[in-house]
Amino acid sequence: MLSGSTRLGAVIGSPVRHSLSPVLFNAAYDALGLDRVFVAFEVAEGDASAALGAMATLGIDHLSVTMPHKTDVARSVDELTDEARLLDAVNCVVRTEGRLVGHNTDGPGLLAALAHETGFSAQGKSCAVVGAGGAARAVILSLARAGASEVVVVNRTRDKAESGAALAGPLGRVGDTSDIGAVDLVVDATPAGMAGQIDLPFDPALLNRHQIVADLVYHPAETPLIAAARGRGITAVNGLGMLVHQAAIQFELATGVAAPVKTMWDAAATAAR
Ligand code: NAP
Repeated sequence: MLSGSTRLGAVIGSPVRHSLSPVLFNAAYDALGLDRVFVAFEVAEGDASAALGAMATLGIDHLSVTMPHKTDVARSVDELTDEARLLDAVNCVVRTEGRLVGHNTDGPGLLAALAHETGFSAQGKSCAVVGAGGAARAVILSLARAGASEVVVVNRTRDKAESGAALAGPLGRVGDTSDIGAVDLVVDATPAGMAGQIDLPFDPALLNRHQIVADLVYHPAETPLIAAARGRGITAVNGLGMLVHQAAIQFELATGVAAPVKTMWDAAATAAR
């Protein structure tokens, strides 16, 4: 039951109708009986700082941020975490002691998902990230910070690969598809496999049976890359775990309460079908 004391969280984006954030957060609030509600606001490109002003004025204490606002929000909040500053991208704003603090939970979300689903820890592991867009950059930074032995960035546009690899400092380098078979973890951070996109980001014959493959796409649940990997007995996960765990981290930042991850997972899996 909503009341005068119900707290509001929201996601801003454009387009935002497809966002699973309301499903994830409202399922979590319901599971824990929190007097909160989470909604989606369509905010036009260029209007992110006005949305932050509204957040402060209306007392909204948690804002999720999706495309195309992540960089604009990073430049408009009162404070940034170290990760959000290095990425120049924010996917979560939490009002903390009256100040708007920008976080980026995408990379930690993937690491948590990998740990949960496969037991993988990046410590001492070699990793390849295919793609060098916003999601890839968040993953590269988190892998390096989690102690990966190297992070190889494979991307069709070379200067973006260089910029992405630089996020990993001395652990990062630009590679090519010949690196894919030689690492412990392969992350596909391209849109390959989604409707209307190319099927495969690289030839799956390059994979070896001892690797873990993470495809950041979650719709369809089994992309051609995941199907090919699993067909050869290779452990492969889709992006649903990253989606759920980056939201679970946001939930904990905003509420101070442990996230009901299983509830969030079930809600996201049902909605993503
Ligand atoms: P982005 O910023 O647009 O970057 C896309 C990257 O993929 C770029 O590096 C691009 O290469 C590469 N790419 C695109 N089409 C390609 C093609 N046909 N062949 C080879 N490379 C191609 O997108 P993003 O925000 O990083 O998102 C990437 C994927 O991750 C999307 O599918 C998105 O849905 C998914 N994602 C999932 C989650 C999750 O929680 N599971 C979170 C964020 C994103 P160039 O640099 O050469 O253009």
